[in-house]
Amino acid sequence: KVETLERLKGKENITQSGQKIDVCANIGNREDIEKVLRNDANGIGLFRSEFLYMESGGRMPTEEQQFQTYKLAAEAMGMKKVIIRTADLGGDKQAESLDLSGEGNPMMGYRGIRISLDKEEMFKTQLRAILRASAFGNLGIMFPMITSLEEVIAAKKVLQKAKDELKEEKTAYDQNIKVGVMIETPAAVMISGELAREVDFFSIGTNDLTQHTLAMDRTNRRLAGYYNPYHPALIKMIRIVTNNVHLEGKHISICGDLAADTSMTETFIQMGVDELSVSPGKVLPLRKKIREIR
Ligand code: PEP
Ligand code: MG
Repeated sequence: KVETLERLKGKENITQSGQKIDVCANIGNREDIEKVLRNDANGIGLFRSEFLYMESGGRMPTEEQQFQTYKLAAEAMGMKKVIIRTADLGGDKQAESLDLSGEGNPMMGYRGIRISLDKEEMFKTQLRAILRASAFGNLGIMFPMITSLEEVIAAKKVLQKAKDELKEEKTAYDQNIKVGVMIETPAAVMISGELAREVDFFSIGTNDLTQHTLAMDRTNRRLAGYYNPYHPALIKMIRIVTNNVHLEGKHISICGDLAADTSMTETFIQMGVDELSVSPGKVLPLRKKIREIR
């Protein structure tokens, strides 16, 4: 079985009827980069950068440390894209360097882009590191846990500040770096058309979107039976977002666990989803499934 998957390396992700879809990989740290290359992914669709914060003990990762890691990913992937998600801390992702205790409801609490916008220096440091690394490959920046257009505009303002600083310092960066957002809340689904006028690409985080749509904490074991990413509400949402994003001619990916679920692949391809991003070990099984679809 492993051997047949091996033979799929270098092949296209194309259905029997000729429809193509990108299969990218999700990673959490620099050790994962090698797995992405070994499994021949089309790029890195989600770099969960918060792991850098979770793995650096009581301290924040410095701009230089972050720059080195993002640069490594950019260089390893060459022309292929690498989407760095800005720190998605809070919720189930705690960092010693931030005091996130005392939250009655962390999943619906101080997390993701809310922390970044609240801690502008920390956010700008990360954006500077990503921008500096963008001179070495094909990087994109993605904001997590978006619920409003105002958050996106505010985040882009901080990004502009970081760009202005680098320009002033005569430090190289990709001036056309693409900016995207994650669709993880029902609010983001409903305003996906408006968001599509503000950013270049989208990625649906089905893990959070499931929990927020079904009003159930995904870490609450008592509710495990309620966690249903196949709920018709979720499938409708994915369809709505895909249509809205395509109306503006932008790119749509799915990067939650559902992206790797081969019982859904045909549905996603029929919807016209542009990309699926999955853990590195799932890239080739997904490619196999895609190539079998008629
Ligand atoms: C998601 O919510 O589906 C997602 C990809 O982000 P994370 O699992 O890191 O919250
Ligand atoms: Mg998420």
